[in-house]
Amino acid sequence: MRASVQFRNFDDYLTAVRELSQDVLRPNEHRLTREGGIPEDLTEALKEIGLFGISIPEEYGGLGCSMEEQIRLTFEFCQASCVYRSRFSTTIGLTSQAILDFGTSSQKEFYLPKMAAGECTGSFALTEPEAGSDAASLKTKAERDGDIWVINGEKRYITNAPQADVFLTMARTNPNDKSANGISAFLVDASLPGVSVGEPPRMLGNEGSHVCYVWFENVRVSEGALVGGKEGAGLKAALRGINHARLHVAATCVGQAIRLIEEMTNYAARRIQFDRPVGDFGQIQALLADSQAEMAAARALCIDCAKAFDLGGPIPHVDIASAKLFASETVSRIADRAVQILGGVGYMEDMSSIPRLYRDVRLFRIFEGTSQVQQANIARAMLKDI
Ligand SMILES: Cc1cc2nc3c(=O)[nH]c(=O)nc-3n(C[C@H](O)[C@H](O)[C@H](O)COP(=O)(O)OP(=O)(O)OC[C@H]3O[C@@H](n4cnc5c(N)ncnc54)[C@H](O)[C@@H]3O)c2cc1C
Repeated sequence: MRASVQFRNFDDYLTAVRELSQDVLRPNEHRLTREGGIPEDLTEALKEIGLFGISIPEEYGGLGCSMEEQIRLTFEFCQASCVYRSRFSTTIGLTSQAILDFGTSSQKEFYLPKMAAGECTGSFALTEPEAGSDAASLKTKAERDGDIWVINGEKRYITNAPQADVFLTMARTNPNDKSANGISAFLVDASLPGVSVGEPPRMLGNEGSHVCYVWFENVRVSEGALVGGKEGAGLKAALRGINHARLHVAATCVGQAIRLIEEMTNYAARRIQFDRPVGDFGQIQALLADSQAEMAAARALCIDCAKAFDLGGPIPHVDIASAKLFASETVSRIADRAVQILGGVGYMEDMSSIPRLYRDVRLFRIFEGTSQVQQANIARAMLKDI
């Protein structure tokens, strides 16, 4: 553990993160909506406890947690609103992982310590209006002008765009190569002339998380902005990060499922109808038990993938796709059951957290690869060797 985050070992740190989640983040969730974002004092609390650096190695000032440790932490902090997690997810996941795996030593030394300290927010800019699931069809282009790259294009749905200090931006550097090999990754400083960010749109859920359009208009970056100094490796960098991010999303679903199960169980035990708690009725018990069993299966799958990740062999793509698919579909089902168990209370915005959680978790079946994309990846791998 890094000295400035004063914990003797991982278990102590896990306990501190659990306490932050339960005692500070949960009671302040209403402020995310009321204040239209994560208030500064809570953002500071996330930074102070080191959450911006959990996946960054200690040599760059991070906590250097193993993947299993990251996943266990995610189970804890995601029992509070997942909007908190969205604030540092793009930094600890897609952006820093691409720099770690593919960046040059000067890119690592420049960005990673600031990211670990929460002083540099990384945003991941891949998706475009015409390139969603089919990310390799992106049109944003980067062209050489001497030893400068000039970037032009439009990105959408970019999480943390208004907070970003740097955009990990995927752009086509070889117009003749329409495949992934024609795409490169650039670290584009958000303050550069020609970079602009749209207003955060209203979303179905995740209120307080800012997901915006980003435009690049004749943005000039030096050769040093090209990730790894290498053309054509952009989508590879993105996809390595996406495996890490997908597993984190699966663990996020587990954290949210634990929270939903806690709320629906408490309600079932207390709500009296026909002179007894509704939890006495077999149909309600079935909803509770199915939720618990499915959450436990998703949790085990996440831990299994994390252990495989930590062994350092080939990335278990298919298992990660399975974890992301199963956990995101599971938490949606559990949220639906929670509404059912709470009855009218589960439908009224100001009577419980359930309506908000129900809307929030719907996202997990869409981003970091939709459920259909995960199904396609899994099935393709199954059929490949036959
Ligand atoms: C809140 C939010 C935050 C996001 N944050 C980021 C971010 O920070 N950075 C970033 O780059 N992107 C981000 N995204 C983009 C996200 O990754 C995409 O929305 C996602 O990949 C799906 O793309 P799409 O929305 O264009 O849907 P489409 O690709 O248009 O898909 C539409 C439908 O067709 C289905 N479909 C597509 N292809 C296939 C196929 N081959 N087989 C079967 N079905 C298929 C899909 O499953 C879906 O049901 C975010 C999205 C949201 C909603």
